[in-house]
Amino acid sequence: MKLRILLPVLALLLGVGVAPAAAAAEPVTAADACYTWGRTLSEGASGDDVRQLQIRVAGYPGYGGVLGLDGQYGPATKAAVTRFQQAYGLGADGIAGAATFAKIYALQDNDCTPVNFTYDELNNCNSDWSGGNVSAATARANALVSMWKLQAMRHAMGDRPIAVNGGFRSVSCNNAVGGATNSRHLYGDAVDLGAGAQGFCALAKQARNHGFAEILGPGYTGHNDHVHVAHRSSRFWSAPSCGVSG
Ligand SMILES: [Zn+2]
Repeated sequence: MKLRILLPVLALLLGVGVAPAAAAAEPVTAADACYTWGRTLSEGASGDDVRQLQIRVAGYPGYGGVLGLDGQYGPATKAAVTRFQQAYGLGADGIAGAATFAKIYALQDNDCTPVNFTYDELNNCNSDWSGGNVSAATARANALVSMWKLQAMRHAMGDRPIAVNGGFRSVSCNNAVGGATNSRHLYGDAVDLGAGAQGFCALAKQARNHGFAEILGPGYTGHNDHVHVAHRSSRFWSAPSCGVSG
């Protein structure tokens, strides 16, 4: 739990007031060790702060959508922010202000990962993210986006744990496990999911709503024992046993 959340709770418990006027007049202080937004963002805004927001709402593009992480707050970003707000019972105006950022701070760890996923579980093959088809930094950044998509999916499915069986692979690791030579695991954005309490087909179907252009599951070669979700430039969904295709 973040300090920003904890303080009002403590104040409530102790029966003391928190002075909002004083807090508002102060310069922006870090909300956590990851990232702190310094302004309200709405349609028409641009910059790295928009891009940081886009990463956090990448799991809310709507069915079959993929949100561009371009730092431009256009209609798709507004729609994604609106869906995020609706998912958490916030005022759904598509404008990212204090309430939206507070929810994001509550959802993220100090290393910027969403609270229910970690870099380690998306990298069980080689620890420094090197040796894939992109730089280590890019692979790690791609994994972060996939984690935010999974966090959205997890919330939409009742906040039950999602079992992650792996993610990034170096070329040698991918070869060792018999992965396809063009596997998205080499880029860091692929995640293999266990059945969990949800079951493979529920996961494969739900993933269509959360920004995964690649979904492979039961009925697709080699995917009867897990569901694979990833990014790719054009959509490829195949889990025939679940009725997922496209
Ligand atoms: Zn996979």
